[in-house]
Amino acid sequence: MNRIDPPPPQHQRLAGTALAAPQARTEQLFQGIAVSAGVAIGPVFGTTEPEAVITRQKIQASDIGAERSRLEAAIAQSRKQLAKLRARLAVLPEESQTEIAPLIDAYIRMLGPSRLVRGVRQRIEETLLSAEAAVMSETEAIAEAIMAQAEPDLSAEDLAGLRRRADEIGEIARRLVRNLTRSPFRSFAGLPEGSILVAENLRPADAALLDPSRLAGVVTEEGGSDGHTAVMLRALGVPAVLGVAGLAHAMRPGDVAVVDGSTGTVMLNPSATMMTAAKRALTAFARERQRYARLRRLPAVTQDGVSVELQANLELPVELPLIVQSGAVGIGLLRTEFLFMNRETIPDEATQTESYRTIVEAMHGDPVTIRVLDWGGEKEIEALTLAGVVPEIADTNPALGLRGIRLLLRRPELLETQLAAILRASMAGPVRVLLPMVTTVSEVRAAREVYERVARRLRRRGDRIPEKLPPLGIMIETPGAALSADALALEADFFAIGTNDLTAYTLAVDRGESDVADLYDPMHPAVLRLIQFATEAALRMRMPVSICGEVAAAPRLTPLLLGLGVRSLSMNASAVPKVKQVIRSVGIDACVRFARRVMEQGDSEKIQAMVDGFGRTDSPAAAP
Ligand code: PEP
Ligand code: MG
Repeated sequence: MNRIDPPPPQHQRLAGTALAAPQARTEQLFQGIAVSAGVAIGPVFGTTEPEAVITRQKIQASDIGAERSRLEAAIAQSRKQLAKLRARLAVLPEESQTEIAPLIDAYIRMLGPSRLVRGVRQRIEETLLSAEAAVMSETEAIAEAIMAQAEPDLSAEDLAGLRRRADEIGEIARRLVRNLTRSPFRSFAGLPEGSILVAENLRPADAALLDPSRLAGVVTEEGGSDGHTAVMLRALGVPAVLGVAGLAHAMRPGDVAVVDGSTGTVMLNPSATMMTAAKRALTAFARERQRYARLRRLPAVTQDGVSVELQANLELPVELPLIVQSGAVGIGLLRTEFLFMNRETIPDEATQTESYRTIVEAMHGDPVTIRVLDWGGEKEIEALTLAGVVPEIADTNPALGLRGIRLLLRRPELLETQLAAILRASMAGPVRVLLPMVTTVSEVRAAREVYERVARRLRRRGDRIPEKLPPLGIMIETPGAALSADALALEADFFAIGTNDLTAYTLAVDRGESDVADLYDPMHPAVLRLIQFATEAALRMRMPVSICGEVAAAPRLTPLLLGLGVRSLSMNASAVPKVKQVIRSVGIDACVRFARRVMEQGDSEKIQAMVDGFGRTDSPAAAP
């Protein structure tokens, strides 16, 4: 699709923007977190969460207490979301702050001891409405009362003021109902082709619904560089900037934006000069892609002849053609969460078998590492909640709760179905099975027991599965797993180091949280030491070890990872040629010497500087 010429501006309704006063279209620059490279130019398209569907209108008198508690929880959650948004406005220029902050303050006030909240409580108690139905009827009544003040001789300005107030009430109602119903599916059906999607927040399940061929770029107000939404957007190859405070509230219908997913900048209404520069950058990016494409058939071998396995991560089946074109030799991490997202039931064995088989077949004999379901953390999956597999109210801290293998061992029927499907699909090509979020040796043993039990059952049933079961490996993605890697290496057949979670858990930084994004540093010496420890434990056992976190996709880190002994990397498909280019330009000895010097450092900033200086002091970097 052509990302060069912006399609004509669309006059759609934008999130929150109907509330702000009209203003001339001036150029405005925003800074966020660069998460997916590429330049996009297009009209902005704002999206709020989907309109929530209210399925329960009435309640029993005995449910009044529970309904009131649901309402109070939704009010508290809404206030928290708004307070967070308010705090993040501080990074905006002063004029933008003065425009947006009062609006958010008004929302927060309405969720305090207001007529609105009193009215909703009353409707629950007196007319036995469900909390969401009470919110809707109360807010509609307030909005009607506001508009009833519109006398025929009212000035246009006063009428606009009334409309604004009514809109504000509607906006609060939408937020409350969304939080009450935990509305699962977001529709992007109305997204005009070539537009830039702007949202306050985008969940991984939402990102999975995007069609990259129709979309120029994505910008959100929240989110961090290695959260799952970011991972998903990189996988889709859509230029994206996350964590851009204030944009959704600053933009107007018809605004055009330039998004630079490499620098993290977003420019609203660029001047003619800026637009020309952006078009030039876009053409340069396309040329760079073509240059990298030429590396596809060349081997990933260092100057001194050491081979490195370069594989791709897959989050969505739409990536398959990209993976095949990238020159990746197999899939090093197939995240199976996509199969469970945006649906109301858990996929059965036949459905899963078919999906895995299609992917394995598409790789034409190259290996595919299939990771079993990693539910938890930010990867909320509605089907599991609806099926009662996981509690409706998530753990206090989902990242530390029933995540990954912990849930699968607690609900073995989920694991059994998935393992059965993987085993059946493994007749189509080489497969490995990967367990997420392992922290103890007993988890690996328990999972292996399930694995062998499933294999026996399939054989009894007459299903064809490989005589020798595919290898069963584990993710090393917590400090606990990394530090007990030597013991885990006795139980597992291979390691895949997940530096995304490893960084988050080591540094106690939420990977999808924009407020602490600057603290999320996979090059922190503590993280590097854990990578080194786990890698060496595997190498001592002559056990395969790879890195499949986002650091694998960063060419500037490749020499360091090679120097630490890593010889297998799995990454988003578009990064494969860039990493290959670095591999082909370095010698292993220089990488090992470099890694030794880096590992003596205790200061992340110095490590960053050393990493950036590698080409200058340690080895000549060749041009593609
Ligand atoms: C990781 O944690 O590094 C990883 C690869 O797994 P995910 O990003 O799916 O959590
Ligand atoms: Mg992980």
